[in-house]
Order: sequence, then structure tokens, then C-alpha cells
Amino acid sequence: MTRRCFVRSMTAGGAALALGQGALQAGVTPPDFASAAKTLSEHRIVRMEARQLQDRYPRFVGKNSHLGAVGWGGGYQVRRVITDQGASGWGMSHVKDDVVAPLIGRSVPNLYDMEQGVSDEARAIEIPLHDLVGNILGKPVYALLGSQGPTSVPIYSGAVYFDDLEPENQPRGVEGVLASCQQDHDVGYRAFKLKIGRGFKWMPKAEGIQRDIDVTRAVRERFPECRILVDGNDGFTVEEFIAYLDGVRDCDVYWIEEPFLETRDDYLKLREFMRTIDCRALIADGESCPRHPPQPTEYGGYEVEFVDHLYALAAEKLVDVFLLDLGTLGYTRWRHLMPKLKAAGILASPHTWMWTPRPIYAAHLAAGLGDVAIVEGIPGKAAGIDYSAFTFANGDLQMPEAPGFGLGLEA
Ligand SMILES: [Mg+2]
Repeated sequence: MTRRCFVRSMTAGGAALALGQGALQAGVTPPDFASAAKTLSEHRIVRMEARQLQDRYPRFVGKNSHLGAVGWGGGYQVRRVITDQGASGWGMSHVKDDVVAPLIGRSVPNLYDMEQGVSDEARAIEIPLHDLVGNILGKPVYALLGSQGPTSVPIYSGAVYFDDLEPENQPRGVEGVLASCQQDHDVGYRAFKLKIGRGFKWMPKAEGIQRDIDVTRAVRERFPECRILVDGNDGFTVEEFIAYLDGVRDCDVYWIEEPFLETRDDYLKLREFMRTIDCRALIADGESCPRHPPQPTEYGGYEVEFVDHLYALAAEKLVDVFLLDLGTLGYTRWRHLMPKLKAAGILASPHTWMWTPRPIYAAHLAAGLGDVAIVEGIPGKAAGIDYSAFTFANGDLQMPEAPGFGLGLEA
């Protein structure tokens, strides 16, 4: 590792860990909870309106190790929640109207507690409710969460897929990936997560690993000042992944995500190899799980055993960052989990792919709770969303002082 790389790695890890001290960072101060609860008690929900939005990415997004091409962006439902005082909040909320209909007529503090977040019965509208409470109190969501993190939040582009293999009738090769990185660099990204694992099913094994290496090396060379994250989507064996990492040992990889199914033995082998080549990349895991529980657990759509396993790996320093999905765990459960991770010395980065409002929601968790290494960003926009309160430069999203999540929903 060169000195430049060493300093960068130390700064990245050190800055992230320093946020775990619970100190109030710059930005909007949290509300006084007692008077906030009194203000909320004056509001009763009288109406909810759902509508569909459609994201548009700046380019066609290709395959990852397991799945076919993503395409141009997904659709999703959002819901606006309106009170009898004329206040409103909105956000992603995918359930049908009849599921949330019983919440109409309820007072806001009946569904949202300043310390705890939303009640169990209000989870389906937890994002709109956080926005609503922020709007009523005139505070950004991150201030509701405690303003313990930075208001300048590092974001990486999570949209760099196997663009070398697209279009299928005329694959562009490594240049295709470089073009994607350049497009994201042009709008302010300074960190790229490269999908790897081409040999899992899209290319012959050895060729696929070599292409993963070539892509990583090309991105490092073209963007020497940027962070490189890599995500295998569990598409390697440990031996294959070690062969890949050996090929990029001088590329200062910042983050290794889901290289293979998380087992202690394989991570022990990987850590040992990382020691031999002085690789200080963070290991991030826990986005995908082998199965979902029939009923929500304390970890939402994740089994308790799965999260316990991640904790056990983290206790042995085999995993550094928990990636549980923003929606599968849930926003309120993330509020509860993050302080526990912080106390255990584990970093967090809620998985946000693939809808454009979700990085904003995750950035509020980062600014509010202060245990997030870097947020997964999604280039692109949905028609109907006003993102203009946010500025993005040199890889950092600047959190606005606007109330709620700071995203507008145009009429
Ligand atoms: Mg991933």
C-alpha cells in the first residue's frame, strides 16, 4: 500500500469510527422531545393519498453476478399523509390503501413516538410519518434522530454494473464500465461500487475473474482520487475471490461487499490473505439472506439467527459493515439497530438499491445517528420528485436544513 492509499484508508476508517462517539455534530439541533410531543398531539391524520412514481436512470444499467440487466429504473408507490391541521408528509409506502385505512383518524403521537419512532401498526407508513413529523416540527429527519452524524454525507454510486457486457449485441468491454463511472463522476460521485463476479454465470470462470480484475484496474487508473468498492453478490468461492483480490492488490479497494455466502471459515481465509497483502478494505455483508421469516422479527424481514450470525462474524472482525436493507429491516428498526452497532464498533450502510428516494432516507440515518461509513447512492431521478434542496459535490451529499426528508413531491 502506498502512503497516499494508507492515509486515505486510515482517514476513511478513522472518520467513520469517530462518528461513533455520540457527540452532536454540526447541523440542525434536535427538537425538545417533550414540547415536540405536545405539538404533535394537536395533529390527527385525516387523509392519505397514494400514487405511483417511476425512476429514470441516466443510462441502461446492466447485469450483476446473478441477475439480468436492471434497465432504466424501477417504479414504486409513495403516499402522502395529511393531518387535520393541514400538515403533510410523504414517502415510499408500498402497501395497499386498505392496509393503512385504519390509521386514518388517529392522532400523530398515537403512531409516532419521539424516542422510539413509529409504532408497529404504523410501519407501513413509517417513511411518510417521519417526513410528516419533521414538517410539523420544522426539523429535518436527521435532527429527529439526534443530529449525531455529519451533515456532509459521503455517497458512492451503486449503479456500476456489468456495463462491459452491454449492449449484448455489441458489448463495449472495459470502456463501458469506465463510461458509467465517468457519467457518475460528472455529477459529483467520487466513489464507485463495481459489480464483480462475471464468472459466476455470464463468462467462463477464469475469463470472468480476469475481466473483474481488468475493470477494477482500469477504474483505479482512470480515477486515481476516487474510492473503489466491489460487490460480488455472493458470486465467488473464497478461492476465486482471493484470486481476484490478488489481481487488484495495488488498487486500494476501499470496501468488499458480499464476495461469497458469509461463512466463518471463508472469511477467516479471506482475512488471512488480506493480511498478507496488507489490504485494509472494509468487509460489508448482510444485504441478502438465505430466507425470510414468515412473520416479521425484531429485525423485520430478516431472521434473528441471520443477524446473530453477522454479529458473531463482526465480533471476530470478519465483517466490518452491516448492509441490511433499508426497507426489509425498516426505518424505525434501523433507528434502533444503529446505536447498538455503534456500541459494538460495527459500521452500518443500509442497502438502498434501487429507488432514488432511498439514498436520501439513508443519508438522514447517517446524519442523525452517525454510524454510516458511506451511503449507497443511485444516480437518476423520478419525475414528480423535487430533489433540489440537496447539493452534491466532491462525493458528499450536503444535508439541507429543510424540514422532513427535504424531498418535494410535485402536484
Ligand atoms: Mg450488494
